[in-house]
Amino acid sequence: MTQDNGFSARLLIVGPQGSGKGTQGARIAEALGIPVVSTGDIFRANIKEGTELGLTVKAITDAGDLVPDEVTNAIVRDRLEQPDAAEGFLLDGYPRNIAQVALLDDFLQGREESLDAVIELNVPREESLSRIALRAQEQGRSDDTEQAIAHRLDIYERETAPILAVYGTRGIVDTIDGVGSLDEITERIVAALEARGLARVQA
Ligand code: AMP
Repeated sequence: MTQDNGFSARLLIVGPQGSGKGTQGARIAEALGIPVVSTGDIFRANIKEGTELGLTVKAITDAGDLVPDEVTNAIVRDRLEQPDAAEGFLLDGYPRNIAQVALLDDFLQGREESLDAVIELNVPREESLSRIALRAQEQGRSDDTEQAIAHRLDIYERETAPILAVYGTRGIVDTIDGVGSLDEITERIVAALEARGLARVQA
């Protein structure tokens, strides 16, 4: 568990759709023994189960639009209050705009916490597009239509990329080359986290 040796890591992984942030986030969280908090996964699970939240967000996510901040913020707050996130977590897909950054800051400050590192996965747009096309074939995600994909990439550039400037002024962004084999990319991320003293020391 993460409580050993006072270890904690509060991380965020950011990248455009198709950057591999979901896959890499899961690998890093597993290696560090911290939970992944993925808003996209939470929304998809609710849509699949047909919950009230799922019904509210289905049309929005299918179109590639952002779910309203007040809905998303409340979900993340509830999730981070779960005991397994007390000593660390890896956020995937949240915050996604400047307003969400402010809310997360307030929430973490209330717990005398802050993010330790923001991993930016850097992948050229053509590479993202071809990976999403592959995922659409393999997984059949209902928001992986050509129109929704282009819309999501535009939203990423317009609303999400600016959060990196905010975190950049805090000196916590590590920009990682997201092109290569899965293992190579994981190793790059681990090396960046180690350089910050955030990699887990094996007992
Ligand atoms: P993702 O799996 O991270 O690409 O998220 C899938 C979809 O869920 C997005 O296209 C949005 O519609 C919605 N979503 C995920 N995270 C957020 C967020 N932080 N704010 C608003 N909408 C979100």
